Amino acid sequence: ETESISQLIDRLAAVVPDYPEPGISFKDLTPVFADAQGFKRIVDAIVDPFRGTFDVIAGLEARGFILASAAAYATGTGMLTIRKKGKLPRETFAESYQLEYGEATLEVHCDDVPTGTRVLILDDVLATGGTLGASTKLVERAGGIVVGIGVVLELEDLGGRGRLSGRHVHSLSAV
Ligand code: AMP
Repeated sequence: ETESISQLIDRLAAVVPDYPEPGISFKDLTPVFADAQGFKRIVDAIVDPFRGTFDVIAGLEARGFILASAAAYATGTGMLTIRKKGKLPRETFAESYQLEYGEATLEVHCDDVPTGTRVLILDDVLATGGTLGASTKLVERAGGIVVGIGVVLELEDLGGRGRLSGRHVHSLSAV
């Protein structure tokens, strides 16, 4: 019997207690990315429900880049880079959001999203949804249409899906 995608993620993901600070249970997906079969399966599965609906795949720095670049290559689309503040060299839109402690800012190049571009946004983990919420705002301010959000793992207790209400959010597994 073949292993389901959520079983595969559960088998390969590493859970690190109290990282990066006490009380946080960090879900490390690098072993999934490092596994040939695992990486292929998650990249194929994460784009599957959105096939034919997007023009470009956005990745969130840094782990979202791994998924978005592979998924863009696999589906023959381009990849849109959403980065942490200060990394993009030309004119950007910026969106700030609250973290558990303090604030973060994401940016996208103004001219990387032609008006009406249909964008699929990918990241590794959906936690509080702050990062993905800011990213959807950023893509829309830049002129894009967010057709969906894909993540490998959703931490249901943190309520991220609720902060992304009205969005098509697809997670490959949930804990
Ligand atoms: P969020 O709270 O949804 O804005 O998550 C912030 C960022 O940190 C996202 O890019 C997540 O991938 C990552 N992240 C948050 N919590 C965890 C966790 N427990 N394990 C792994 N990554 C996490």
